[in-house]
Amino acid sequence: LTRMYGPLTALSNVHVDVMTALVSFDRVFEVLDLKPLIRDREGARSLGGPQAGDGPAAPAIEFDHVRFAYPASEEVSLASLESIARTDTAPAREVLHDVDFTAAPGRLVALVGPSGAGKSTITHLVSRLYDVSGGAVRIGGTDVRDVTLDSLRAEIGVVSQDAHLFHDTIRENMRYARPDATDAEILQALESAQVGGLVASMAEGLDTVVGDRGYRLSGGEKQRLAIARLLLKAPSVVVLDEATAHLDSESEAAVQRALRTALAGRTSLVIAHRLSTIREADQILVIEDGRIAERGRHEELLLRGGLYAELYRTQFARQDGDAEEEGAAEGA
Ligand code: ATP
Repeated sequence: LTRMYGPLTALSNVHVDVMTALVSFDRVFEVLDLKPLIRDREGARSLGGPQAGDGPAAPAIEFDHVRFAYPASEEVSLASLESIARTDTAPAREVLHDVDFTAAPGRLVALVGPSGAGKSTITHLVSRLYDVSGGAVRIGGTDVRDVTLDSLRAEIGVVSQDAHLFHDTIRENMRYARPDATDAEILQALESAQVGGLVASMAEGLDTVVGDRGYRLSGGEKQRLAIARLLLKAPSVVVLDEATAHLDSESEAAVQRALRTALAGRTSLVIAHRLSTIREADQILVIEDGRIAERGRHEELLLRGGLYAELYRTQFARQDGDAEEEGAAEGA
C-alpha cells in the first residue's frame, strides 16, 4: 500500500501551498495508515533551526548534478491498488538528467522551456515531494534529505498556477498560511499584495466568504490573495508557478507589483510565463528534455539565437509592446 503515496503526492502537488499550510504530511498518512516514501530520516534536524532568531537570511538553493525518475508507482491508478504486488519495481524513465545550478541567496531563477521539459519536476524536488535518483538538492548548503519535512516546508512558500481558495472567509483563507496571524498582519499582507483596497471595499471585509459559492474573485484577484498568503507565511524560499491565464493589463500590473514585493529578498525559483519576470531574473534556465539547455540572462540568451530566442519569439514576444526587443530577437 505504500504505492498509494504516488497518486496522493500527485494530488498534493496541485495545491502544495495549501497542503503544507493545513496539515503535516505525516498526519495524512497516520490517518490513512500508510507509510510515505518520503519521510524524515532518523536524526533529521531542523532547517534554519534554533539560530533563526532574527529571521534567517535567504539561503541558496543548489541542484548538484541532479538526476530524477518518478517512482514507478506514480503510474499506478488508485483503482488497481488492490491488485498490487508488494515489490515490483518497473524501470522508471529518467525525466531529469544532470541538472546542475545554484540560485544564489535572495536571487530569482526563472525556469522556461517547452511543455513536459521538467520544469515542475525541478520545483517539486525543492520541497522534497520526491527524492532525487542521483546527485543532491541543498538549501543553505544542507541536503534536503537531512532535515525534517516540517522545517523544510515551513521555509518554502509555494504558489501553484491556480490559486486555490477555500469556501471560507478571507481571514481564514489567509490563516491557512499562518494560523496565529492577527487581523493587522493579514491586512498588511493584503495591502502589500495589492488587494487591500478590494477587501476594504467589501461590506464584510475580512469576514467576506470567497470561493466557488461565495464572493467571486477574478483570476488576478485570486492570484494576489495567494501572494498575500505567501507574504504572511514569509518564507525564505519561494517556488512559484506563474499563472498562464490571461489577465487584463490593470490586473496584470497589480499582480506584477505584488510579485515583486513577494520575491524581494527571497531565493526564488519561478516557472515563468511572463516576460517581465524573465527580464528581471538573475538567471534563466532553459529546460529541454530534462536538461539545462541554456542558461544566462535575458539579453545574453536572446543574442545567442538558440532555444531561448526561439521560445521568446513564440511565447514571450507578443507580451512585449517594445519594438526594440522584437528587433533584437529577430536579429539574433
Ligand atoms: P509543463 O510546462 O507542461 O507544465 P514541465 O516542463 O513542468 O511541463 P514536468 O511536469 O516536470 O514538465 O514533466 C516532465 C516529465 O515528467 C514529463 O515527461 C512528464 O510526463 C513526466 N511526469 C510529470 N509528472 C509525473 C508523474 N507524477 N509521474 C510520472 N511522470 C511524470
